[in-house]
Amino acid sequence: MISVFGSANMDLVAYVSQAPRRGETVTGHRFRTVPGGKGANQAIAAARAGGVVTFLGAVGDDGFGAEMPATLAEAGASVRGLRQVPGPSGIAHIVVDDDGGNSIIVVPGANGTVTGPTGEDLAAIAGSRALLLQLELPMEAVVRAAQAARVSGVPVFLTPAPVQPLPAELLEAVTTIVPNEHEAAAITGVTGPDAAMDALLELVPEAVITLGSEGALYGSRSEERLRVPAVKVNAVDTTAAGDTFVGALAVARTERMPMERALCFASVAAALSVQREGASTSMPTRRQIEDALD
Ligand code: ADP
Repeated sequence: MISVFGSANMDLVAYVSQAPRRGETVTGHRFRTVPGGKGANQAIAAARAGGVVTFLGAVGDDGFGAEMPATLAEAGASVRGLRQVPGPSGIAHIVVDDDGGNSIIVVPGANGTVTGPTGEDLAAIAGSRALLLQLELPMEAVVRAAQAARVSGVPVFLTPAPVQPLPAELLEAVTTIVPNEHEAAAITGVTGPDAAMDALLELVPEAVITLGSEGALYGSRSEERLRVPAVKVNAVDTTAAGDTFVGALAVARTERMPMERALCFASVAAALSVQREGASTSMPTRRQIEDALD
């Protein structure tokens, strides 16, 4: 089982010609709601990629709080550990303009009430083959989940986004950090994937730096570096490409695929997701990944 301890947001996406300035009202031409949040995205990606997944987190007692579990369950993830708490669900208010540029407001809502894993969460984490973490829950909660995994010898994959200072007690518990190029540069203070990889491996045993359409770079303290090219595709929406990559990577690793094969599996999954609009709605199934791999 793979546990994902993280955020669930409803993405509220408005499409406009030009984003409004202060005091201005503009008429948009399209609006949609898409379940998201990095935690939920990773859980959906891993479940669709064939993993046995349980999502641990919180939603509010509004309509979004009812929709999120349904979406996760439809993807095949267990939502027994998804709590409903009083107050609003987390949301991301996204304005996309005609040039494809966007501005985003995240209001954590229920995600912000999570101070740590519950007793049931701890049992799920202890019984898992991997724990996936991101940084959209309060840091103390993320640290406590990571420490619980470490005590039980469960590998921890960390997506360090949104980027912020990483406390030592978190890094101590992380097995594999999976930043994109910008996050890797922000964490290490160095630019260029190879230099950033050197610096990351001072912090954690294993790292994968995702490089968008350039693929991904893998490094560990004990093995040789691997560079996996991205699959050449026509990208229409790269939202959650990184979350799809991590979800699929965790599935591949918990199935004990060799690292190079696991990286190809993840990169094919992510490439399939960028060819379709939407985050959670664009993630490929196991069958689609395997068909594209061969
Ligand atoms: P994030 O979404 O976190 O910013 P990246 O942009 O690095 O992360 O993308 C994660 C992974 O998704 C990449 O390593 C790659 O495998 C895949 N990917 C992203 N953009 C493209 C693209 N334009 N074409 C093919 N694959 C892509």
